[in-house]
This record gives sequence, structure tokens and C-alpha cells, in this order.
Amino acid sequence: MNEQSLLQAENLHVYYGKSHILHGVSLNVRRGEVVCLLGRNGAGKTTTIKGIMGLAARAEGTVTIAGKRAERLPPHGVARLGVGYVPEGRKIFPHLTVEENLAVPVNRPGRWNLAEIYKFFPRLHERRRHPGGMLSGGEQEMLAVGRALITNPDLFIMDEPSQGLAPKIVQEIYALIQEMVKDGQAVLLAEQNAFMALEISSRAYVIDNGQIVFDGMAQELLEDKDRVRALAGAS
Ligand code: ATP
Repeated sequence: MNEQSLLQAENLHVYYGKSHILHGVSLNVRRGEVVCLLGRNGAGKTTTIKGIMGLAARAEGTVTIAGKRAERLPPHGVARLGVGYVPEGRKIFPHLTVEENLAVPVNRPGRWNLAEIYKFFPRLHERRRHPGGMLSGGEQEMLAVGRALITNPDLFIMDEPSQGLAPKIVQEIYALIQEMVKDGQAVLLAEQNAFMALEISSRAYVIDNGQIVFDGMAQELLEDKDRVRALAGAS
């Protein structure tokens, strides 16, 4: 395995009941990189992430995180290896306040704590006593990002963070992603919005029908927009 790899998934297969959804997906993410995982609706982006995070009921293949084998770990075990996960649809606790949502056990020291999160997202500070369920979509995304950040992850896995958000908030989240990798962390970004994700990524994978159909430099795809449209259904 590459010394610098924070994440290496090899030959992942995931099944939902009798349906074989992922057919041998391999990908890796190194320190200091933003890597995007693109693909049309239903291509298998979320399933890949669930396979990595220990959230798929039946998965085969290997997952190595910071040099440690992780394919048999439950999600909290994967998180303990230094992975922050922002799920599709945010999945915050709607009945807990913003501050309670952010009260996650943290055993990794680093830049991010409650004060830093509030400094980066002042809106969360303003809304800190409101239940998560009362927040707007953008505020909920900030909360989901803050909840992952506060654990000071080395690797950040984000599943469609731009979904349903106003462009200004997407810009804020994307700016944060760029800042994190400057700090030496790494980001795996699943996005349907291919062109936007490619702009901030160094490398890209495209998945279709549960298989990787492109693995290369983001720049290569940015220079061939028709190919992106054909592979990832981007508009
Ligand atoms: P989207 O952007 O729509 O989330 P995606 O690329 O993340 O797309 P997945 O959610 O990984 O796609 O879905 C991949 C395939 O697995 C789809 O055909 C989907 O219908 C199927 N699938 C997803 N979840 C389940 C489930 N719980 N049970 C059965 N099939 C599922």
C-alpha cells in the first residue's frame, strides 16, 4: 500500500438482499488530496461510501484506513481511525439542539472545537439553542459538517454535500474542503454535480452501474466536458 494513502478500498462488493450493487470497486485517497466520486443517480456513490464506513449490511473486499484494516469495523470503529463522515441527507438529530448535536465524544486533538466551528459557521452559533429539525437545509448541512469536523478527522467523507443547497452555502462548504486539505487532511467527495466537484479535486473516480469507469486526474475530465456528461450524466 502507498505510504501516503489514508484510504484504500480494494475490490468492494456490496449487496442489498439478493441485488449485487457494487462490482469490485477500488479507490484510494492520499493525504492532502480532494478526490471526487462522480456518477449519475443510482450509480453507486452512496453504496461505495456505506461499504467504506461499515454501513452496508453485506460487503466484501478490503478497506484500509491509515494503514489499519477496517472492513470488519462498525461505523464508530471506522470513525475512530480518523474518518469524519457527512452522510447524504445530513442525518442530524432533529429533536436535539444544534449544540447537543455537536456534543460528540472527541478523542482526537486538533484545530476544531466548538468555538472554531462557531467561528467558521457563525449561523450555527446564532442557532445553537434551536432544535436541529428547525434549521434550514443549509444550516443542517453546516451542522452535519460541524459534527464531523469536531472529531478532527484525517479523512473527511462527504456524500453529496451540495444537494438542495443555495450556491452561497455550497461555496462555503467547498471553501472549507479546500482549507482542510491545506492542513494535510484528505477529502473524498461524492457529488452528482460533477463540474463543481472537479474544480476543487485533484483526482476523480466515476462510477456507473456499480463499477469504476474512470480513474484519473480531475483536470483530464475538466478538459473533456462531453466525456463527463457521457460518463457521469452531468449537465
Ligand atoms: P444517488 O445520487 O441517487 O444517491 P448513488 O450513486 O449514491 O445515487 P446509490 O444510492 O449507491 O447510488 O444506489 C446504487 C443502487 O443501489 C441503485 O440502483 C439503488 O436503487 C440501489 N439501492 C440503494 N439502496 C438500496 C437498498 N437499501 N435496497 C436495495 N437497493 C438499494
